[in-house]
Amino acid sequence: MRKNIVAGNWKMNKNVIDAQQLMAQLLEYKKENATNCEVWIAPPALYLMMARDIFENNEVGVFSQDMSEFAAGAYTGEISADMLQSIEADGSIIGHSERRQYHGETDAACNKKVKAALDKGLIPVYCNGETLEQRKSGKHLEVVKAQTEEALFTLSAEEIKKVVIAYEPVWAIGTGETATPEQAQEIHAHIRSLIAAKYGQEVADEISILYGGSVKPDNAKEIFSQPDIDGGLIGGAALKIEDFSKIIEGFNN
Ligand code: PEP
Repeated sequence: MRKNIVAGNWKMNKNVIDAQQLMAQLLEYKKENATNCEVWIAPPALYLMMARDIFENNEVGVFSQDMSEFAAGAYTGEISADMLQSIEADGSIIGHSERRQYHGETDAACNKKVKAALDKGLIPVYCNGETLEQRKSGKHLEVVKAQTEEALFTLSAEEIKKVVIAYEPVWAIGTGETATPEQAQEIHAHIRSLIAAKYGQEVADEISILYGGSVKPDNAKEIFSQPDIDGGLIGGAALKIEDFSKIIEGFNN
């Protein structure tokens, strides 16, 4: 059975004191509240070891925001799958639209990163999604299909089962504009049907597909109630415990 997941992408926010404080708040919240979903965070790379120490009993999953497609070597500023594995991180976000936009990340590179992560036992959270122009011109299904195929369809069935997909329409990230639950469900069902066509329904049904793009406490429950939406990748609203915890509670009845 696929998992429900609420994952927070902290992006480039918080100094070490503030990061430690939010992690401590999250740990306290997790200890005091039963949650109906897994809770993951992707803090800046600098704080990953601190996060692993704070969440030593895996109360919260610890993810990097990106990782290198290469194993090791002269790649200044990068972190490798091996490094992440060595600090017992759980996985990495791969192909976030901000990496695509500002760092020229392609689906071909994402494919290598996903493979590199899986080879080290890490969970890749592969992000895809269309731009506003692509949606306006009715190309959203086609764009997401091409992204999914290029980044993931060289994997074996056993490998793809371990991937988490985050559908994040670029026009909804950090803009306050959210896809309607119906718009998100349409794409999630589309992604799942592409996987089913290639790998079979059983494999497709095991893959968690998260929605990302201005999820907030007041829209989380409705978004998460869609049949093919298995949780959220949360940006801005993951930076305050009050908001993030309410989003987590979107999975409570
Ligand atoms: C994100 O960065 O993955 C994201 C969804 O951001 P926000 O929730 O702020 O739109």
